[in-house]
Amino acid sequence: MAKALVAAMEPDESFEAMGLDPTLLRAVRDLGYTTPTPIQRQTIPAILDGHDVIGSAQTGSGKTAAYLLPILHRLIGQAPGRTRVLVLAPTRELAAQIETALHDLGRGTRIRGKAVYGGVGMEPQVTALRHGVDVVIATPGRLLDHMQRRNADFRALQVLVLDEADRMLDMGFLPDVRRIVGALPRERQTLLFSATIAREVEDLARSILRNPVKVQVGPPRRPPDTIRHEAYVVPQHLKTPLLVDLLGREDMMSVLVFTRTKRRADRLSRQVAQAGFPVARIHGDRSQGQREAALAGFRSGRHQVLVATDVAARGLDVLGITHVINYDIPPDPTDYIHRVGRTARMDAVGEAITFATPEEERDLQEIERTLGRPIPRERLAGFDYSAPPPPRVRGPPPRARQRQRFRGPPSRQRSAPPRGRPGHYRRGSHRGD
Ligand code: AMP
Repeated sequence: MAKALVAAMEPDESFEAMGLDPTLLRAVRDLGYTTPTPIQRQTIPAILDGHDVIGSAQTGSGKTAAYLLPILHRLIGQAPGRTRVLVLAPTRELAAQIETALHDLGRGTRIRGKAVYGGVGMEPQVTALRHGVDVVIATPGRLLDHMQRRNADFRALQVLVLDEADRMLDMGFLPDVRRIVGALPRERQTLLFSATIAREVEDLARSILRNPVKVQVGPPRRPPDTIRHEAYVVPQHLKTPLLVDLLGREDMMSVLVFTRTKRRADRLSRQVAQAGFPVARIHGDRSQGQREAALAGFRSGRHQVLVATDVAARGLDVLGITHVINYDIPPDPTDYIHRVGRTARMDAVGEAITFATPEEERDLQEIERTLGRPIPRERLAGFDYSAPPPPRVRGPPPRARQRQRFRGPPSRQRSAPPRGRPGHYRRGSHRGD
């Protein structure tokens, strides 16, 4: 945490002063949390008092513990056997992370949670739901499946949490969320968290929250000030060579790279691996096991680079990411905020680097407006920006899964030639994800 912030805090703004159960205070200490973050200081007392809460907090602000701690406090001492808390989250990664956070914060208590999401077998989820696991953490689609099969019983539900509500709506989950909420007891505490509170989120909040306490941390839609932003304006065909050059820099220890599509993530991670950098990748077409292995490898430092698409990286919680690189410019400025929120967690310094083709200069300006500050345009010394696109080589027609999308007229793109084979060149138009 920033030193200034700690210094500005009153002594009674501590976890102890909030009256949390001693078991939770021990867990918090064991996790190394010395002081509550701003969202925790504002939210925990309100939730303990039984209020509904609508919280706008940036990623990395500590919002998960902000709602889990008071929820755990409430459940301690209650008899187990019925599901009393439901947390809805947009992605399986986020659901899995909340499950881990619950496990860590609830250490020493007998409170159990189960993440319920698609892409994995139903059976273990059915067992947990039928046994009335204390806390269910679910993505909306899979949970509705279970509800339709009558696997879940929420009659004893006390608390509903909607985490990353804005993203849930962006992903089209609003009808599912409404159906789920419609089937829950009306007498409950409801907590809603969202990176940004747009009109749609407010409408949803108005219909499911009662007299909520509003909590806002920091200016909305802005990533932490400690992040350094820079952009490289570079033609499409030079993005990979530029990335490879940058990855060789000494400070590039833990690098998250975003591409626009799953195919581009696949192709780029092959190229990065061929250049000799340990790399993993996550996107929507990868199995749960593959994603978990990729994340574990990245977290442990075995993989210096993780290539990801936006949806797959949503809610990603990896401490120590030093750089976020937008290999493809984000589709919209809010995605930029979400992407760079993956670095500089808990106020450490991080760097966000964006590649933009000359035609994307306008998109870059849009991001600067949202960010509220200019993004310096950098040029890498010694890099040959004038290298022409590689010549076209005639060969067998490209396989569909290797095609990629280009803006403007058909052009060519070089992919790093696999060892021992001549390079091959592709063109086409594809927007797969
Ligand atoms: P979140 O915003 O919930 O994704 O949390 C971001 C990261 O901050 C997670 O790795 C948490 O473990 C960590 N964290 C949460 N609360 C605190 C705290 N009070 N002090 C230090 N780290 C924290």
